[in-house]
Amino acid sequence: MSRFLSPEALRLDPYTPGEQPRDQQYIKLNTNESPFPPSPRVLEALSRTEAEKLYLYSDPTCAALNAAIAKRYGLDPGNVISGNGSDEILAFAFRAFCGEGKLVAFADITYGFYEAQAALFGLEAKRVPLREDFSLNVEDYLDFPGAVVIANPNAPTGMAVPVSDIRRLLERDPDRVVIVDEAYVDFGAESCAPLVREYENLLVTQTMSKSRSLAGGRVGFALGSAELIAGLNRVKYSFNPYNVNRLSLLAGAAAVEDEDYFQSCCRTIQKTRAWTTAALEKQGFTVLPSSANFVFAKSDRIPGGELYRKLKENGVLVRWFSKDRIRDFCRITIGSREQMEALAEQIDRLLAGR
Ligand SMILES: *Cc1c(COP(=O)(O)O)cnc(C)c1O
Repeated sequence: MSRFLSPEALRLDPYTPGEQPRDQQYIKLNTNESPFPPSPRVLEALSRTEAEKLYLYSDPTCAALNAAIAKRYGLDPGNVISGNGSDEILAFAFRAFCGEGKLVAFADITYGFYEAQAALFGLEAKRVPLREDFSLNVEDYLDFPGAVVIANPNAPTGMAVPVSDIRRLLERDPDRVVIVDEAYVDFGAESCAPLVREYENLLVTQTMSKSRSLAGGRVGFALGSAELIAGLNRVKYSFNPYNVNRLSLLAGAAAVEDEDYFQSCCRTIQKTRAWTTAALEKQGFTVLPSSANFVFAKSDRIPGGELYRKLKENGVLVRWFSKDRIRDFCRITIGSREQMEALAEQIDRLLAGR
């Protein structure tokens, strides 16, 4: 390791993003992007006139974007903070609410970025095993003396936790922050967003990367009590005050205002998910019950790593994690119907050739 690195940098555990190939034309089902373009309203908002204003800094308060988000979720702008993707918001939250004497817990199988951020901020994280069937047992967290982070639905399993479980966690200890990462909630899980008015210790993070087709725009946000949002702003203004760029502020607001387009994209993904699940099950796969825009599937006939590699050789990218408990599985993003038909065809061919 480089002699230039600080001890803190040496202790990092960087997240490995899914491949973003530039060379070859893949059917890309590996990073849970939307198969649909952004709303036409987003394209209208990104005019040449706006691009010409890039010589000026963006609004550090993200006022217009936060107002649009607040309106959509029936909250006040003081309940909203926007970020450069929700990964940034999660980082603000880990820094704001976890540290010396402030512990953090999350599941053993969940979004890998929590682990990376715990290392970045030198946090001692408790990893709580999911049940054998990958469901989350809220009882395991009730008496944990610190912040709890729950991805709902979870990644990479796609499985959702009932809101009643989150309520129990919030009520058990009002001094504990519960962070619910709802990156995939729009694809069929119940959101905790309305609970923000009831619980001062609830922070809900969401992203426009998946359900609003803006992965490349990098827009995420959190909903929470004014007190929690002030805590996040304290970190933001210590790190990057102009965290959302001018064009993304416009794109995010336009995306959140186009409710019809958003609903129609989410419905289409849900239908395609049902089709894909049925197709995989017909091919003998076990598919976990997904409330997200991906499925987590395994087959007794082909190991996860081999399926990933063979599909890649044939132009289809999915995600495989070489990790205990889940290395038999592949995570497959729900793309367009045509893309999923092509995937099913490739899998048929691979299995027939064995
Ligand atoms: C994709 C994802 C995010 C954040 O994505 P951004 O693009 O940074 O907004 C957060 N949590 C989970 C579980 C995700 O899968």
